[in-house]
Amino acid sequence: MESSDLKKAGLKVTLPRMKILDLLANSPDRHLKAEDIYKMLLDAGEDIALATVYRVLTQFEAAGLVTRHHFDGGHAVFELNDGEHHDHLVDIRTGRVVEFYDEIIEQRQKEIAREHGFTITEHTMILYGHFDDEGDAEGRD
Ligand SMILES: [Zn+2]
Repeated sequence: MESSDLKKAGLKVTLPRMKILDLLANSPDRHLKAEDIYKMLLDAGEDIALATVYRVLTQFEAAGLVTRHHFDGGHAVFELNDGEHHDHLVDIRTGRVVEFYDEIIEQRQKEIAREHGFTITEHTMILYGHFDDEGDAEGRD
């Protein structure tokens, strides 16, 4: 992700846009809340307002650069749109998000749609629960 990606998306290259794009592309966690991005920028010594972060993310979403998710009960989470479909596991205790892709699930969805004479244009699968190795995570975050 670089300035040319902004231009391709029809957005002018500005410093806040570059910084936020860079964070989304390089953070170890691919799914970030606006507040997470804001905090990371502050920690990096950037002078930026939370409202600016929200505005830039909304512009990115409109331009197709990022996808916004509304995971159950939480704030909106943003991730870079790399064009590859995937689904999500969401830990309801810690908010941890893990991506997965399963060819059999994808195929079955197509078959079910076909049986109903239905054309899928988009789908979202979010599995809620908790990771078994994080049993003592209650109260965290
Ligand atoms: Zn994802």
